[in-house]
Amino acid sequence: MDKLVGVLALQGAFREHIKAVSRLGATTCEIRQARDMDGVDALIIPGGESTTIGKLLVEGGMLDPLRKRVEHGMPVYGSCAGLILLCRDIENSDQPRLGVLDATVRRNAFGRQVDSFETNLAIPELGPEPVPAVFIRAPVITRVGTNLTVLAQVNGQAVAVRQGNILATSFHPELTQDLRLHQYFLTFLT
Ligand code: GLN
Repeated sequence: MDKLVGVLALQGAFREHIKAVSRLGATTCEIRQARDMDGVDALIIPGGESTTIGKLLVEGGMLDPLRKRVEHGMPVYGSCAGLILLCRDIENSDQPRLGVLDATVRRNAFGRQVDSFETNLAIPELGPEPVPAVFIRAPVITRVGTNLTVLAQVNGQAVAVRQGNILATSFHPELTQDLRLHQYFLTFLT
């Protein structure tokens, strides 16, 4: 494919996304400043610490240009902290965000006892085989806007959603060998 997928590389698990997308044959580049977005067709926002990534986006003058690109239809995929940054509303937080996804998110929603876990998720959109999913201090979506499709749930709460050109997961598919989620995202580019 002749498309260029940018992976936000300010903080967090960006290398694993680059590996996953590269294994699927797409060209990738690391996004560290606004001008790195020139010529990029899609963006992945990795997991990490959403407050830190948001702060760095503000400091780098990247928040508004990225928001505009997404609003104009650029495909974007956020995992974990990336999901948080995409959401319009973050419970009990005024941290910087892109706010393009019509949803409310609760950070660290699985509590201290269940800091991290791995499970197999049913995601019918990706085929009949369950998808291995790694959750690390993961958020859940507590309000789903009318234009969102819920792709997967845990305990009845949304952990993977799509809203047009925007894909978001609470979990980290890039930490498994299963490439179906990234493959699904790449279909947004065609
Ligand atoms: N708990 C982190 C946050 O609120 C997200 C964790 C992750 O990305 N693995 O930003």
